[in-house]
Amino acid sequence: MPIHEKSLIRPENLITHDSLVIDGTDVSGHWSTFIKSRTITDYNEAMQDEIAALPGGEYIHRCWQCGSCTNACTVNAVNPDFNPRYWIYLIRTGMEEELLRDKDIIWQCVSCNKCTYACPRDVFPEGVMKATAHWLELKGHTAASPATHFDATFTEQILATGRMEESHTLRSFFKRTGQPLNQPWLVALVTGMAKRFPLFFMIRMGLAVVFRPRTRGWARTEGVLRDFVSQRRARNAAALGLDSKEGH
Ligand code: SF4
Ligand code: SF4
Repeated sequence: MPIHEKSLIRPENLITHDSLVIDGTDVSGHWSTFIKSRTITDYNEAMQDEIAALPGGEYIHRCWQCGSCTNACTVNAVNPDFNPRYWIYLIRTGMEEELLRDKDIIWQCVSCNKCTYACPRDVFPEGVMKATAHWLELKGHTAASPATHFDATFTEQILATGRMEESHTLRSFFKRTGQPLNQPWLVALVTGMAKRFPLFFMIRMGLAVVFRPRTRGWARTEGVLRDFVSQRRARNAAALGLDSKEGH
C-alpha cells in the first residue's frame, strides 16, 4: 500500500530492505517500506504554560488547529518546514523533543502578521512564534538570535537616555554580534547622508554620538522602567523555573 503524505514521516522512521522475499514474493525496495512506530516518553506537561507566560504566547490555548496561520504564512510559502500550526500543536501537547527538531528555524518568523489576520481564534500566532523563539533561548536550546541582541541594545539605550540614537544602537548591535562596523551598505548610507543632509544636521548628529544626551527629567522614568523590566524578567524566569538573571 502506498504511503500517503510520505513527506510528513521523518526519514529515519522509514525502513526499507534492498533485498527481501516473503513467502516466495520479492518485496524488495519500496514495496517493503515499514514505518517505525513513534514512541514518546518525554512529555513536557508545562510547555504550554511556560510559553503562555512569555509576551505573545498568552492566547495559545485558543488554537483549534484549523491551519489558517500556516496557509497564510510568508515563510511557509518558501519553506514548508516552517509550520506555525504544527508547532502550536506540539507545544499544546507537550512534545518538546519534537519541537526541538525545528528549533533552528522557528526564529525565522518575519513578523508580517499575516497569520494573525487569518486566525479565526485570535491566537496571535506571530506572538506565539516570538514567545517560542524566546523560550528556546531562555531554556538554552538555541543561542541568542540577532533579533534578541538588537532588542537588548535598543532597550538598554532607551533605559539609559530616554531617547533613540541610531548610530549608537547600530554600533552596540554590531559589537554584540561580532560584526565589523565598516559594512559596505553602512558606508554607502553614511556617505549618501553626508552629501545630502545640511551641515548643521550632521554636526548635531555627531555631537549626539559623542555626548549621548538624555531626555530632560529622565531619571525618575528610568527608575520606573528599570523596575518594570526587572520584574518582567523575574516573572519570565519564575514561569520557566530559571534563575531570575536568565529571564531576559
Ligand atoms: S508573522 Fe511569522 S508566522 Fe505569521 S505569517 Fe508572518 S512569518 Fe508566518
Ligand atoms: S489560524 Fe489560529 S486557530 Fe487556526 S491553527 Fe493557526 S493559531 Fe490555531
